[in-house]
Amino acid sequence: MKQVWVFAEHQAGQWTSVTGELLVAARNIADQLNGELNVIVCGDQVEELAATLKQWKVDRVYLSQHPELNFYHPLVYTETIVDLVSEYGCPEMILFGATYLGRDLAPAIAARLGTGCAADCCDLKLDENGNLLQIVPGLGGTIFATIVTPFHRPQVATVKPGMLETLGSSENEDKAKALKPVEVVKVEPRFPQNTAAIQLHSVKQKPAKESGLQAAKRIVAGGAGISGPEGWSLLEELADVLGAAVGATRPAVDEGWASHDLMIGQSGKTVRPELYLGIGISGDMMHTIGIKGKGTLIAINQDPKAAIFKQVDYGIVADYRSILPVLIEEVKRREG
Ligand SMILES: Cc1cc2nc3c(=O)[nH]c(=O)nc-3n(C[C@H](O)[C@H](O)[C@H](O)COP(=O)(O)OP(=O)(O)OC[C@H]3O[C@@H](n4cnc5c(N)ncnc54)[C@H](O)[C@@H]3O)c2cc1C
Repeated sequence: MKQVWVFAEHQAGQWTSVTGELLVAARNIADQLNGELNVIVCGDQVEELAATLKQWKVDRVYLSQHPELNFYHPLVYTETIVDLVSEYGCPEMILFGATYLGRDLAPAIAARLGTGCAADCCDLKLDENGNLLQIVPGLGGTIFATIVTPFHRPQVATVKPGMLETLGSSENEDKAKALKPVEVVKVEPRFPQNTAAIQLHSVKQKPAKESGLQAAKRIVAGGAGISGPEGWSLLEELADVLGAAVGATRPAVDEGWASHDLMIGQSGKTVRPELYLGIGISGDMMHTIGIKGKGTLIAINQDPKAAIFKQVDYGIVADYRSILPVLIEEVKRREG
């Protein structure tokens, strides 16, 4: 039977968001292939967490537990997963989140198995022969390229967080209670001889300051058209009165008006706001690919031919400097 594998990444006792997204997509793909969805879990004392995978209708979990797997070790994780493939049969595909961990581990595994790795996919589909269509933005964001690995297995791909659909939370946990427990296969981790070549000295928890943008219901985003810190302050003032988070395009980050954490797009964050207001932004796909969901999109751009106007619900053709002060006053007046 064909197997679809997902590497399930967790942090602080919880699945990362992209793991949930991968599991929904992988279950779907496995069903289309009449195959099984099997999940790799590495860590220390993660048996209880592994049991929660049943809400995604996972068929089997390969569970590798050891105190030294508590934190990611590239060599041990790679060898353990390569061993799994030789012991339990080569899957059709292994899917990873395009996180720091996934971006490191997936290509290492692909190289060891002599196959390809499609990085930072924004969508996954199957073709009529059951090959995985690994869709990535290409040529500086001007096209979507489809990568296929027809001659080698497994097909290895990383998927950018926020690109795929996820399960709703509580409703599915309730439904999951009725599902049968996941079959758990315990596997020994493999410690290669050169493990000491990479040693973990300390772990520093990064403050989750960027989560504000990803969870924001309203976003005011600015681009190169803002042209300077003065205009950026005006944009921040509008965001403030609207109770919105500030987002940015790459040029705005490169200019130093906004921090890298605020960048939306292919190399930045994926957001799902109810309201997105893009100011001085051209609408390049590398930016707009990071805006998901069914929220209302508005753009202010002085160029009536700007690509962003084809992607938004409402467009204002104007110099933002003439619009923002009026908007700020109007919002303040309405807020009383
Ligand atoms: C591999 C790769 C990854 C990338 N990842 C990202 C990413 O994650 N996020 C991202 O944002 N970009 C990313 N980029 C860059 C991306 O391709 C675009 O260059 C970028 O999004 C354009 O930003 P912009 O719209 O701010 O600037 P521009 O394209 O320069 O557009 C500025 C707009 O402002 C308008 N304007 C000018 N003055 C005014 C004014 N006074 N009032 C109103 N409008 C005005 C102009 O008409 C213009 O449309 C990536 C590129 C590559 C190659």
